[in-house]
Amino acid sequence: MQQIARHDLIVIGAGSAGFAAARTARDVGCNVALVDTGPLGGLCILRGCMPSKALLASSDALADARDAKALGIHVEGTTVDMPFIAARKRALVKEFADYRIEGIERFPIYRGAARFLSPTSIAVGEATVLEAPKFVVATGSLIPASVLPGLAETGYIDSDALLEIESIPKSVVVLGGGYTACELGQFLARMGARTTMLIRSGHLLTASDDDVGNALTHYFREEGIDVVDHATLVGAYRRGTEKVVRYSVDGDEREAAGEEIFYALGRVPNVEGLGLENAGIAYDPRLGIQVDATMRTTNPDVYAVGDVTGEYMLVHVAIYQGEVAARNACMNLNESANYEIVGAHTIFSDPQVAAVGASEKALRRLGISYVSGRYDFAEHGKAQCLAKTKGFVKMMADRESGVILGACVIGPQASELIHEVIVAMAFASTADQFMRIPHLHPTLAEIWTYPAEICAAKLGMKMPGDEPIEMATSVPDTGRERLRERRG
Ligand SMILES: Cc1cc2nc3c(=O)[nH]c(=O)nc-3n(C[C@H](O)[C@H](O)[C@H](O)COP(=O)(O)OP(=O)(O)OC[C@H]3O[C@@H](n4cnc5c(N)ncnc54)[C@H](O)[C@@H]3O)c2cc1C
Repeated sequence: MQQIARHDLIVIGAGSAGFAAARTARDVGCNVALVDTGPLGGLCILRGCMPSKALLASSDALADARDAKALGIHVEGTTVDMPFIAARKRALVKEFADYRIEGIERFPIYRGAARFLSPTSIAVGEATVLEAPKFVVATGSLIPASVLPGLAETGYIDSDALLEIESIPKSVVVLGGGYTACELGQFLARMGARTTMLIRSGHLLTASDDDVGNALTHYFREEGIDVVDHATLVGAYRRGTEKVVRYSVDGDEREAAGEEIFYALGRVPNVEGLGLENAGIAYDPRLGIQVDATMRTTNPDVYAVGDVTGEYMLVHVAIYQGEVAARNACMNLNESANYEIVGAHTIFSDPQVAAVGASEKALRRLGISYVSGRYDFAEHGKAQCLAKTKGFVKMMADRESGVILGACVIGPQASELIHEVIVAMAFASTADQFMRIPHLHPTLAEIWTYPAEICAAKLGMKMPGDEPIEMATSVPDTGRERLRERRG
């Protein structure tokens, strides 16, 4: 017998995006229900951000112990207790998941796989049919099966499996150079695995500005990771106890062998089996569900948020999209998501990488006239005191208005340092206004004043002390409006 229930809004998927949508809908008085196949908790908590950062804390500590000799501290005989590290990670994940599940269970929650039957109804498993005038799809992403010839037969681990390892392989071949490959590849290397990274482009983090990607590639090589650039993967096979990856560089075929292969070539939106065609929702299996700026799909009563939309694939973006969609669905609004600042991101490699706003690559592509300023940590007093001198900060400002258009950091505490520019950009600060903000000394944060000063000088703005400080929360022509127009 089928159970039929009705709600104002049904959210499919209780991960970061879906939970944020449900919470927002409930806050505005909507009768909202969640549907999830389980396990409950979402990717971030169970197999993403949190377990990976728990593991990285251990490899960072090991690197700090090794680097301490630069400060006159000799740490002898460091050992890695991998079972302890794995148990610590498991305990943290359980704690985070238990807390999240408590939150999820405050909503009506239907357990099972959802499939659209019509634009206003879904089946959950075999026994339940749910009806609603509006839906939010938040089913996340998955790791696609590898299509590299021979890899499935050879055997490999993906990020899900890597986060569960109890011992470090002696050697590993990492396929990919994106953020997961960088974070977890460096983790393995630092914990003792001889690591080879095969990357298609000229540097790690393809989408980053070349100076950032090249710097990270250099630092990885410097610590012994063999990063092979311009590598085209050909296939894989097993040779005794070794797993071998065949690849070519400029037509020259080569091999990389290891005890394990870490497959880190990215995730795809999870759209399979949702019956999206039954609800008039357009999607592409690799690019995800098509949405407009209001997070509406091609069916205006169905919204899609988070990884399933195929863009960004970051938790804070998933949450933001969930909130926008829920407000639009429950309050009949047309609020548009704006990624100009929300699209900021960070990579927890060492040195860390973080960026907000437009990259130089994007500014050049869009034909925006800008000035930039860069400053190296090697020249910065506090970084020298800490012996953390890898990397640099960079800021880009609009040539006409002086408004900050973007910034990036590669260096110590980059994931924290970027927030200063995120806040400044949220208030449409010019480079000139930014450099006048008081900074404590000596701090890593004060490094930002240098690129800001360089930008201001290039723009012919007055230097600090020339005139009283004037902070504005809006600037008539921000330059960012032009950027938005050109992005379309
Ligand atoms: C190793 C790793 C590290 C990461 N680190 C970071 C980081 O440091 N910072 C960051 O911002 N991002 C990070 N991410 C990305 C981040 O985890 C994701 O962007 C985010 O969790 C996506 O949230 P979501 O709600 O879209 O999807 P999910 O959290 O995956 O939620 C989808 C939910 O839908 C459910 N579901 C699926 N299909 C159905 C169905 N048919 N019916 C019902 N329910 C269904 C699932 O059970 C799941 O609960 C990382 C990812 C990985 C893999």
